[in-house]
Amino acid sequence: MAKLYFHYATMNAGKTTMLLQASYNYRERGMRTMLFVAGHYKKGDSGLISSRIGLETEAEMFRDGDDLFARVADHHEHTTVHCVFVDEAQFLEEEQVWQLARIADRLNIPVMCYGLRTDFQGKLFSGSRALLAIADDLREVRTICRCGRKATMVVRLGPDGKVARQGEQVAIGKDVYVSLCRRHWEEEMGRAAPDDFIGFTQA
Ligand SMILES: [Zn+2]
Repeated sequence: MAKLYFHYATMNAGKTTMLLQASYNYRERGMRTMLFVAGHYKKGDSGLISSRIGLETEAEMFRDGDDLFARVADHHEHTTVHCVFVDEAQFLEEEQVWQLARIADRLNIPVMCYGLRTDFQGKLFSGSRALLAIADDLREVRTICRCGRKATMVVRLGPDGKVARQGEQVAIGKDVYVSLCRRHWEEEMGRAAPDDFIGFTQA
């Protein structure tokens, strides 16, 4: 049976590059893939999946309220789909994660989701919460903090270069994100005594 996968990580771990490579591997073998990205990421009328190392491709957009099962089932009816990929999967609604599970369970098409686990305040995103709850296969994409430990958290730097401690969950384009280990994240967020604080605020 096909599975629902969730590849999760913090920012700048190379998730999107992995997604594009995996999709390419299918296509190279003559198989068809269907790519989705959150509606926040678009170029004109279509979605855009772009990785930091310069690879990019057009993709279908998903927005709140979209029925992803119906869209894939419709497409699959006339053109066989061998794998579905979803980038920025943290922005899925809970119901959409169930729709993706149905794609695996009822259409027998594997679904590979890539996204962030938590936001800059250390809270789960809606899509990540649902994927962590029901995906068949969870895979962590690793990246490292400035100290060399595994980075599991992210801080957001505002236009002033300072760490944002509050604010909207989503701020695309304007801000810079830095991945940190949990210990350094707590220090940067002002939640723990700064032992070896480097501090973006002091930069
Ligand atoms: Zn660290």
